[in-house]
Amino acid sequence: MNLKPTIVIIEDEKNICDFIRTTLTTHGYKAITASSGQEGLSFITSHLPDLILLDLGLPDMDGIEIIKNVRGWSLIPIIVISARSQEEEKVLALDSGCDDYITKPFGTSELLARIRTSLRRYQASQAMADPHPLYTCDDLTIDLSKRLVTLRGQEIHLTQVEYKLVSLLAKNSGRVLTYDHIIHTIWGPYADNSNNQILRVNMAHIRRKLENNPAEPRYIFTEIGVGYRMKESQT
Ligand code: CA
Repeated sequence: MNLKPTIVIIEDEKNICDFIRTTLTTHGYKAITASSGQEGLSFITSHLPDLILLDLGLPDMDGIEIIKNVRGWSLIPIIVISARSQEEEKVLALDSGCDDYITKPFGTSELLARIRTSLRRYQASQAMADPHPLYTCDDLTIDLSKRLVTLRGQEIHLTQVEYKLVSLLAKNSGRVLTYDHIIHTIWGPYADNSNNQILRVNMAHIRRKLENNPAEPRYIFTEIGVGYRMKESQT
């Protein structure tokens, strides 16, 4: 699948936001922009990006609040982009859990280098945390280190959220995962009832892509009223 890495940019200064978006999209990233903290948080939970670029001075909240919120449920890399150059503010952002810090003004190559480093570090830590990077069952293979899903040798294209769901189920194959467990693992502790519907919609899309006959699934089973179970990996 080799998804384009998705980056959420939270920045209220339009010029800077446009500059970053253009830089990222021309260098192979998918960029999603938010101009307020609330919008940013909602894009983070709906798109589950690979990385967050965060301005600290936002119209509705301090960027530090966003770092604390996200760190409550995820280790997605966060790079702070700020006009603030005082040391104590960098320390506060880093202590709150951001991964790196870029001070405005900054150049394209510096930005891209910092992004590559953070993504590499995060992917390496994810791969090490996963003892079984390969799921195989009948015609379906999921290579968790390459983020590659194939069915009868054909690559299957999943969205970011679909992939997170499938990989969570694959890592726990053979076990029933409850709706609540799945929702809180994917969308964090602040997930609410609206996520139940989002989960159902995403699972329906996944089944259409992976199952010959979604009404008689071979790989992902519904445990009615409880959750989902993925057929046990054969590796
Ligand atoms: Ca700002």
